[in-house]
Amino acid sequence: MTDRDDAFTALSVQRAQENVDAGGKPFACLLVRDGEVVVEAANHVAQTGDPTAHAEIRAIRLAAEQGISDLAGFTAYVTAYPCPMCLGALYYAQPDRVVYAVSREEEGEHYEDGNRLMSLDTFYDEYAKPIGDRALAAEQGSAADATAPFRDWTARHAS
Ligand SMILES: [Zn+2]
Repeated sequence: MTDRDDAFTALSVQRAQENVDAGGKPFACLLVRDGEVVVEAANHVAQTGDPTAHAEIRAIRLAAEQGISDLAGFTAYVTAYPCPMCLGALYYAQPDRVVYAVSREEEGEHYEDGNRLMSLDTFYDEYAKPIGDRALAAEQGSAADATAPFRDWTARHAS
């Protein structure tokens, strides 16, 4: 960790506070490259009603609007260690690293948003369970030749 990391981490906390002041949830994300904030976003779930409007997701979408779909060379500074949705999105977007201000456990001590299927500090435990044991019911359906689109895509994109 560098002083610069600390400054951007503090800025993510400041942006989260500003979002709370504006009626939003306490999360923000900065996408930083070469010491410069290229994109920043706050959680807009409260403002929009979209449960996927987390800061990281919004930042990744704003980056894509600027033509940046691969975050190589970027650090993502976030208020709290990402939830599984955002962590998955970050794996897809592939920044060099993530720096977080607050751990999942620290967040869970001070904040809960009333989800019926999980609590924030134990959300990751859900993913370690077998599919049939998870709070979100899921069953595999049946369709003839269900893997055909995957095989077709691979055949079209084989180099
Ligand atoms: Zn998230």
